[in-house]
Amino acid sequence: MTETLATAPAAADAATLPQSRHLATAIPGPRSQALHAQRQAHVTDGFGVTLPVFIDRAGGGILQDVDGNRIIDFASGIAVTSIGASNRRVRERVAAQLERFTHTCFMVTEYESFTQVAKWLNEHTPGDFDKRTALFSTGAEAVENAVKIARSATGRDKVLVFDEAYHGRSLLTMAMTAKVNPYKLNFGPFPAEIVRTSSANPLRSPAAAQGPESVTAAALAGVEATLAEHGPGDFAAMVIEPIQGEGGFVVPAPGFLAGLRAIADRHGIVLVIDEIQAGMGRTGTLFASEHEGVAGDITLSAKALADGVPLSAVTGRTELMNAVHAGGLGGTYAGNPLACEAALAVFEAFEDGTLLENARAIEAAARAALAPLVQETGLVAEFRGRGAMLAVEFAEPGTLAPRADIAKEVSARCHAQGVLTLTCGTHGNIIRLLPPLVIGPELLADGLQVLRGAILAAAGPAAV
Ligand SMILES: *Cc1c(COP(=O)(O)O)cnc(C)c1O
Repeated sequence: MTETLATAPAAADAATLPQSRHLATAIPGPRSQALHAQRQAHVTDGFGVTLPVFIDRAGGGILQDVDGNRIIDFASGIAVTSIGASNRRVRERVAAQLERFTHTCFMVTEYESFTQVAKWLNEHTPGDFDKRTALFSTGAEAVENAVKIARSATGRDKVLVFDEAYHGRSLLTMAMTAKVNPYKLNFGPFPAEIVRTSSANPLRSPAAAQGPESVTAAALAGVEATLAEHGPGDFAAMVIEPIQGEGGFVVPAPGFLAGLRAIADRHGIVLVIDEIQAGMGRTGTLFASEHEGVAGDITLSAKALADGVPLSAVTGRTELMNAVHAGGLGGTYAGNPLACEAALAVFEAFEDGTLLENARAIEAAARAALAPLVQETGLVAEFRGRGAMLAVEFAEPGTLAPRADIAKEVSARCHAQGVLTLTCGTHGNIIRLLPPLVIGPELLADGLQVLRGAILAAAGPAAV
């Protein structure tokens, strides 16, 4: 093991990391296997792992492991390293900040980058109204603080959340997350006052056969019925992902978000849009709620916000954000200076570059390669998503019974060939694609061909 560590190359420039897939050993290779055995000796089994390879360097669309394999990255560390895992701007800004200071605690003494990040988010999140921002470190913290702020501002307790929702792993956000295994299993009891209702799932809604408008109408009627049952005047917030992440990359039927906006307004409920996975350019617009022309009263950012340095944000109407008593919000590491510098580098990349165009080009290439599989194979129920947040769902034709076994086999085939894919969904029957927005077109095409071949091999041809 010491040999592996000692021979790891020094921090070479990521620009020199070849942007091509390369298999030097089987995956995982012998060094990864040895390191994984060490991990098992020292790290809790409570953490799962998608692909047990140990990464030596990463950048662009490539993860290079300790055995010298170059793996195509269709995960971005779960939608985090959108501008690449060793982006030059991020490295330079963070390195310069490291020379100055690592931390003061913004609640003790202040630094300007925190304000600059807040200002940019106030200007760029949806909603043409006066805003303030609070910075934290993790997505779950942002969700928790949004609930704190909404409760403080409204004097109400209840929070409406949706089927298939994912909001985090802390105690409150576990309660808000839908799926029990693995996220909530054995971890209760959970905080009270969380109420769940149906979302507008275009594939699986009972109204699906009648078309998307019926799906939206049925889901909105369900929301009104749930609110009526629990007392609409008791709800502080409704929290919704504009495209569901862990729950299955479900794009809500058109008009659903706008309908929620109207319902929230009618009942004085704070609409919190959890853009933690779908935001920061992932779907081809800066925030995914822009596709539906909807602005939350509060918008949450995290994941891609600082390209891998932990940072999250709650951005909302000034009157809500300032309703909290002074000292009521904060955290030791909230808006850490290294993370704020990384976020400023991300903002520069969005302002100077073609990242939103890249996301749309990724969608076009993936759609061309994968959408025909719905017709060509027996078990691909749907290809869906927006920008570089795309998914393939496997299910029995007709019944839509989920086929997690196929998603698992497709992943295994991709992993063996050096393409990192993730699964998601309540039933684990969905492959999701989250490539970095900076992945090159040839690398993307190579990864998509591997994925396409793996799906054809696992899902079989369509019955004629
Ligand atoms: C990942 C995620 C979270 C939780 O973020 P953490 O940083 O893991 O706490 C919350 N909401 C959504 C939509 C997410 O994808």
